[in-house]
Amino acid sequence: MNFSAEASHHHHHSYGHDHKQCVTEALGAAENLCLARGVHLTPIRHQVLELIWDSHKAVKAYELLDRIKPSQQAARPATIYRALDFLIEQGFIHRVESLKAFIGCRCSEHQHELLLLICKHCNEVEERLAPAVMAPLSQEFSQAGFIVHSKAIEAQGICGKCLRFEDTQN
Ligand SMILES: [Zn+2]
Ligand SMILES: [Zn+2]
Ligand SMILES: [Zn+2]
Repeated sequence: MNFSAEASHHHHHSYGHDHKQCVTEALGAAENLCLARGVHLTPIRHQVLELIWDSHKAVKAYELLDRIKPSQQAARPATIYRALDFLIEQGFIHRVESLKAFIGCRCSEHQHELLLLICKHCNEVEERLAPAVMAPLSQEFSQAGFIVHSKAIEAQGICGKCLRFEDTQN
């Protein structure tokens, strides 16, 4: 494959990143974890996961429903929500609270805390584990006697790729 010719047809975010590799790895990891855990990655769950991994952009439940309808006419919002609940529970995806949307998780083999960097320009969300930030935060919670149910810090801004792209346009 001639990458440079191929890339010129793509959105700028395709540069320097083989997204097919991301998808293959994420779906493979999910399939293996389901086998290991004895849970079923049903066709609808698999399809929803694949659709979420279509890109690194956060995707909303109704967008998933729209994209699933052509192949699964019986799909209802509840179908999507049940699949999303399963995928969250298994750690294959994360909910981006501030966008009410979902992204695929790159490290689904373990539960983890996260820092989400949300680009308001391209809507891509980068997940970072940020242990140097999370450890002192845990101390704060325990000092406060506070039990945390979900610990995700969401930051809104412009991602490095969009920033570089804007630079080359000026
Ligand atoms: Zn990717
Ligand atoms: Zn994750
Ligand atoms: Zn961006």
